[in-house]
Amino acid sequence: MKTAIQQTDIHAGSDQIKWKHGNFSLKAAWNCCRVTGNRCTWARLCWKHCRSRISLCVVIILHNKNLSFVNLQKRGLPVTSICHNCYAGDHSNEHLFYHCGFAVEIWRGVFDLLQLQVPQFLSLNHIVDWFLQNTMTKSLKSKILNGIFPVTLWKIWSSRNAMLHTGIQEQSSHAVQAIIWDVNTYLNISLADLLIVFGLQFFFLRYVVC
Ligand SMILES: [Zn+2]
Repeated sequence: MKTAIQQTDIHAGSDQIKWKHGNFSLKAAWNCCRVTGNRCTWARLCWKHCRSRISLCVVIILHNKNLSFVNLQKRGLPVTSICHNCYAGDHSNEHLFYHCGFAVEIWRGVFDLLQLQVPQFLSLNHIVDWFLQNTMTKSLKSKILNGIFPVTLWKIWSSRNAMLHTGIQEQSSHAVQAIIWDVNTYLNISLADLLIVFGLQFFFLRYVVC
């Protein structure tokens, strides 16, 4: 220590503030002092192309912190773990958003309406991966799909809540229509744009004219 001090070349004059991490900015300063975790790969699917309340809901779902019956049981609440949509599985996120017949109808309906081949999804994580891989460009199609993902998860969850509190199951076709409508209005995409991007020749017949 003494040697280091002796070797330090001290000049007369006033002190100066130095920033040794490149160009100074508040962002650089914040990144320098904060503790960062692992990069969240699916974050860009949640925050870009939908309303903030939907983003927040989807982030909670993907962190598996939503109040599904399985999660409520983990917190010690005496509730059944059976899905009240189909009574054929547990009330976990994997079931609610992937296995459940209602979720299957919603995902299939969205892909059918957009005239995309329905992927062979293997799990909820697989659905996330599919949307990550297919929303990497800056094209309008990529932007729409990026909006479709969070809005669809949110719609499945809100339909589940409506079913729970009113006992009325929303028709999957209505839910699919609401998803497309929500994405269109938020992104301010015209029907003509949709027709160009996805070639929705059935859109008028099924959802506009009727
Ligand atoms: Zn179910």
